[in-house]
Amino acid sequence: MKPFSAASIAALGLAALVAQPVRRSVTLVVLGGTVITQNATRDVVSPGAVAIDGRDIVEVGTPAAIAAKYRASETLDARDEIILPGLINTHTHAPMVMYRGLADDLALMDWLQKYIFPAEARTVSPEMVRTGTKLAALEMIESGTTTFADMYYFEEEIAKTTAEAGLRAVLGQTIIQFPVADAKTPAEGLARAERFIREFQDNGLVVPAVAPHALYTNDRATLVASADVGRRYGVPLLIHFAETEEEVRIVREQFKTTPAAYLESLGFWGPNTLAAHAIWVTDDDLAILKRRGVGLSHNPESNMKLASGAAPVVKYLAAGVALGLGTDGAASNNDLDMFEAMRQASFLAKHVTNDPTAVPARAALDLATVGGARALHMERLIGSLDAGKRADLITVSMRAARQTPMYDPISHLVFASRGDDVRTTIVNGKVLMKQRQLRPLDRAAVIADANRLAAKVKDAVGR
Ligand SMILES: [Zn+2]
Repeated sequence: MKPFSAASIAALGLAALVAQPVRRSVTLVVLGGTVITQNATRDVVSPGAVAIDGRDIVEVGTPAAIAAKYRASETLDARDEIILPGLINTHTHAPMVMYRGLADDLALMDWLQKYIFPAEARTVSPEMVRTGTKLAALEMIESGTTTFADMYYFEEEIAKTTAEAGLRAVLGQTIIQFPVADAKTPAEGLARAERFIREFQDNGLVVPAVAPHALYTNDRATLVASADVGRRYGVPLLIHFAETEEEVRIVREQFKTTPAAYLESLGFWGPNTLAAHAIWVTDDDLAILKRRGVGLSHNPESNMKLASGAAPVVKYLAAGVALGLGTDGAASNNDLDMFEAMRQASFLAKHVTNDPTAVPARAALDLATVGGARALHMERLIGSLDAGKRADLITVSMRAARQTPMYDPISHLVFASRGDDVRTTIVNGKVLMKQRQLRPLDRAAVIADANRLAAKVKDAVGR
């Protein structure tokens, strides 16, 4: 046997080098205790890690597997925490945080007509909307919401503020029959919606949308025109739907039908619609909603607070409709904490069905993640931690006395945790909060601005 030549030794060394796996550079790795993926098989990886490059998730695996394959520019240590997809709030009115606690303990129609609509007439402005949205964004980032669906006025201001804060959102410009702060007529509102859609239709974080307020606040022509704008631009259509018995009565008296069938007769429903509340719905209505692929938003806290009723969530889940969870505006909740929304969704379903197995913790977590993504028709992008989806995720601490001991992380997320337990919030691969430190929002400035504006609101409504 010939001794090894210098050249063959060099070749061997090269082969050894090649055999070493080349680690791919990524922008961020989050190292976690337990990763709850919410993927199709609901995998839980413990301990787990998530590799992120730019805006996207590259891989979820064990920390060893991720370390062997990826070299990260930044590593976040969340080893004592749970990593899960960012929560999706499918129905809110972000700037209404400015009316938090302004009028409580009222029924929807009284609350709207005697308090909220007059307060809005006197105080809604681009400045109010910007300041309110910043405060809402702060609250959402701090409580683990990474995507929200909104219906309000001056939606272009909400869009700018949302994108600056780094959150993802579906933002619907409100269309309403009576004069409001940003439009004297529905036609003006629709023109505003079209400008808004054109300005933001290629935004990486914001999906512009049209939001006719409700069928009892818009006439037939306005509803049809709103749906037409939605279809023409291929953007979502958002509406308050079947929220109260009063709404059902109005539709029965005026049109001799149900809210779902009325909107069906107008050609309103389509594959990109999102209906908030959907409480007073018959089996025939449910069949329409399912056939049209309508996304539904369940808002248990707002529905309980305004005593609007309880959506037939168990029926919806059995029917397999796209159902997400929302907080509604902070004036009827009174916060934007999706952990509380999950808990109340579970409790309310158990309470109204007399069945403690209704909406278990896993189903509630699904509503706030994959369910919300489906309801917003964004399931290809968000809702679970899957390679190729957008990197929208949060980490949650499990160290509080009320979370001790922990046998089942999903039980704790739904039944024992609060928004305050969120430590880190990441949207589109960008870290918006790291161990409770915010970036780019300046917490103190956002709260000071909101308090300054609140003084004006107080004067305007004569409090
Ligand atoms: Zn609402």
